[in-house]
Amino acid sequence: MGRVEGKVAIVTGGSLGIGRATCLLLAKEGARVAVTDILDKEGREVVDEIKNAGGVAEFWHLDTTKEEEVKRVFADVAKEFGKIDVLVNNAGIAGVNKPTHEIAEEEWDKVMNVNVKGVFFCTKHAIPYMKKAGGGSIINLSSIYGLVSAPDIPPYHASKGAVRLMSKTDALLYAKNNIRVNSVHPGYIWTPLVEDLGRRSPQGVEAFRKQLDALHPIGHVGEPNDIAYGILYLASDESKFVTGSELVIDGGYTAR
Ligand code: NAP
Repeated sequence: MGRVEGKVAIVTGGSLGIGRATCLLLAKEGARVAVTDILDKEGREVVDEIKNAGGVAEFWHLDTTKEEEVKRVFADVAKEFGKIDVLVNNAGIAGVNKPTHEIAEEEWDKVMNVNVKGVFFCTKHAIPYMKKAGGGSIINLSSIYGLVSAPDIPPYHASKGAVRLMSKTDALLYAKNNIRVNSVHPGYIWTPLVEDLGRRSPQGVEAFRKQLDALHPIGHVGEPNDIAYGILYLASDESKFVTGSELVIDGGYTAR
């Protein structure tokens, strides 16, 4: 019996990185998984990998910043799999790395649209299905940068702070409906998002990674499965008394 046997889970940004690892792990533990992303080819590869391992998954193209698309895809998922129990609001972008006084309005809005409005749209359209199912679990990817800050990527840090409190508000609003809402706060995890930050850094990818390793008391950056296991716990009934909480998985980054 898998840890999320019988549950239906939607993962946004499921084609790469943490989202991909989460899709694979939830499926391995018995969930039927809706892999959603704007990257279709990579998303279909995740579905193939799940199916080849004997799991159940389908891919849907989903840009979380488009409300009508969110509404339509969630309706399709509920039709295909019969219900929605788990939503992992994972899709996110790092955005521009400039000091605040140099950021253009469009650059600010781009990050807020994906990292904040996307979480709002997906939560909004998942809630009615979860109410119908008699409960659910929503897991929002915040960051260590929803807890502490750093002198870079200002819209990203603002967006992850917002996600932390959106999670608590929704936890309070929907506790009576048996819908739990929690945030996850990863330290640096080596994913395409972080590798891209390295590529854009003046010192180059390898030196960037070493610099990141040194920021974590445990001595290295994390890997996608380190986060996927935390998400699995929050998706499962093992966490049935956990709501409005912050699951920090950061190799000790925020402990000092
Ligand atoms: P990733 O490797 O870039 O994967 C994210 C996926 O989401 C990509 O496939 C991306 O496509 C997709 N995506 C972007 N915008 C989207 C949209 N509007 N709708 C649907 N999908 C979209 O990122 P990751 O590092 O795994 O991060 C996943 C989440 O964890 C993010 O919310 C991130 O902020 C958070 N997080 C990550 C770290 C870390 O160190 N990696 C640390 C703390 C928090 P594109 O590649 O085309 O953008």
